[in-house]
Amino acid sequence: MKKVDRTVRRAQTITPFGVGGVYDFGSESFVAMDTTKWRCREEPDLRLPRLERVLGVEGFRAAPIADNSKFPGATRGGGSTPYYRFPAWLFCPTCRAMYKWGPFKETEGAVPSCSNCGKRHKLVPMRFVAVCGHGHLTDIPWDFWAHLSPNGKPEHRDCKNKRVYFKSWPDRGAGLQSLYVECRNCGAQHDLEQIPKKDSLRRVWKHCPGTQPWQKNDLAAPCDRIPQAVQRGASNAYFPVVESAIDIRAGFEEDESLFDLIRAHPGWTPLLKIKALVDAPDNKFAKTFIDPIVRDEHLESLGVTVEHVWDCLHDSGVADAEVPPVDSCDDELLNDEWSSFLSPPEIMPNAEFMADIAPLDAFGEHLPEKEQPVWKEFRRLIGQVTLARRLRIVRALKGFNRLEPNREMLVSPSLGATTNWLPAVEIYGEGIFVALDPRALETWEKRVPNKVLAAMRHAREKTTLDFLPEATNRFVLLHTLAHLLIRQLCFECGYSSSSISERIYSDEETGMAGLLLYTASSDSEGALGGLVRQGIPENFYGTLKTALFRAAWCSSDPICSEMEKQGSYGLNKSACHACTLVAETSCDHANCLLDRSVLLGTKNTPGVGFFSNFVALMEA
Ligand SMILES: [Zn+2]
Ligand SMILES: [Zn+2]
Ligand SMILES: [Zn+2]
Ligand SMILES: [Zn+2]
Ligand SMILES: [Zn+2]
Repeated sequence: MKKVDRTVRRAQTITPFGVGGVYDFGSESFVAMDTTKWRCREEPDLRLPRLERVLGVEGFRAAPIADNSKFPGATRGGGSTPYYRFPAWLFCPTCRAMYKWGPFKETEGAVPSCSNCGKRHKLVPMRFVAVCGHGHLTDIPWDFWAHLSPNGKPEHRDCKNKRVYFKSWPDRGAGLQSLYVECRNCGAQHDLEQIPKKDSLRRVWKHCPGTQPWQKNDLAAPCDRIPQAVQRGASNAYFPVVESAIDIRAGFEEDESLFDLIRAHPGWTPLLKIKALVDAPDNKFAKTFIDPIVRDEHLESLGVTVEHVWDCLHDSGVADAEVPPVDSCDDELLNDEWSSFLSPPEIMPNAEFMADIAPLDAFGEHLPEKEQPVWKEFRRLIGQVTLARRLRIVRALKGFNRLEPNREMLVSPSLGATTNWLPAVEIYGEGIFVALDPRALETWEKRVPNKVLAAMRHAREKTTLDFLPEATNRFVLLHTLAHLLIRQLCFECGYSSSSISERIYSDEETGMAGLLLYTASSDSEGALGGLVRQGIPENFYGTLKTALFRAAWCSSDPICSEMEKQGSYGLNKSACHACTLVAETSCDHANCLLDRSVLLGTKNTPGVGFFSNFVALMEA
């Protein structure tokens, strides 16, 4: 028998197929189980101290590699891989017989097939599942649903030998009203018309069963919510919260004896801590770390003196750090990276972070006379371009929500079990970092009328999307610019639309105003040099000009550019699929908070955009 291919790429094990996510493989559908089901013994081996501090963990783990043809639970009761067939309710597309599947029915590497019609047709999963706002996920009990009377007719609750079929009435159109579940034993029928309505499952459950599909009932959490029926692939079935950080460690001198020791004793925690300390750029936790390290009796048995440790720590600046620990947050992650991109450290051969500043001025000098005014305006607006030749990015799954995003009710990847790690993936890549000129930006921010983004700000305040930043002029400017550049790079260089990602550095208080575009792939050392080449001045200058030139007109104009709000939750202004939006996987902000007019001005106020003058000079 030919094995089925259920390949999950490493990067997908965080999103879209992270813990709790439901994912389709061909005609099959699976859910990713919590991390307590991961078979791993050793210490978490994926490290990034800055991200660990922010997330309050001691390390990360990548999803275990396993024979992808085997999952889920091909071996009974869990199997060798962290995936589980869900929904468990399947039906035969030919004879329409329904099956409640389970791990004990799985055959390794095989798709469930129909034993009813004799044709061994592959069974397909039901479209609807039940979720609640506390993050629980359950199969809709279709056998029970069939026996619920729709219109006050007698109920068939006493049917002893339920045999259900998923059928349709051809004369009732194509909607849900034409679909019904029927019991061949007692004749009960119930259609699906009401299924998507709020609280339609109130008659099935008085309250939520409080479980994930792979959990037995004895692990159920008390939950007072009414589960809601959603399509299994719908966006509100799963909201993963992913936190990522760029490794900005600059590398260390190869001949350092302390580091030889670290390499020789990789498992010895104090040494790991020393390494983490030296690697940490801000050393805020130095004080609390150092004492236990120097008191550790193992130091002596390894032939290292306390003085030597102090010397090493001192040389790397750690021992001087007097900064007390502070509350960590996302801003801290972004701030550190912002500083590293602005003044990249000297490139060391073993560094995880390798970047250098693009020589913009050297290039501008050689441009022809008639191009100089445009170039001068470019330099007035663009403060710096940094070529990130090597980037290591760690993306960790912090948790997930269902029904709506809600950081306060995040379900952890271990479902609340105590762990000191989170699932993550490390990816290598390269990128282009662009910082706007702070003076030009400040001048522009004073000049742009408040009403430009008024509708978007209002919509932002009303949403429950708590992962989105405030709709400031600065953020919308940077975010829209990132999108226009991504689209242009894909168009020019043939990058697939999902292969370039964005990271926005925007904060008025700390002065951050930049963006990073990066390509990254897991499972390999991904950097191919292509994107960095697009960042060198002669290419980047052209790319920016073309991107802005193309953005001036959208195929949905004049409608698109005159919109006060559009897109999901009304969180975009002049920005749509035809001109500004990018692939879901490329955007960190759900394709929201975008507006071309912040860059290019509006019809009535053409000069209001950050790049208005640049574009005018370009066209002159
Ligand atoms: Zn069949
Ligand atoms: Zn029945
Ligand atoms: Zn619940
Ligand atoms: Zn548009
Ligand atoms: Zn975006």
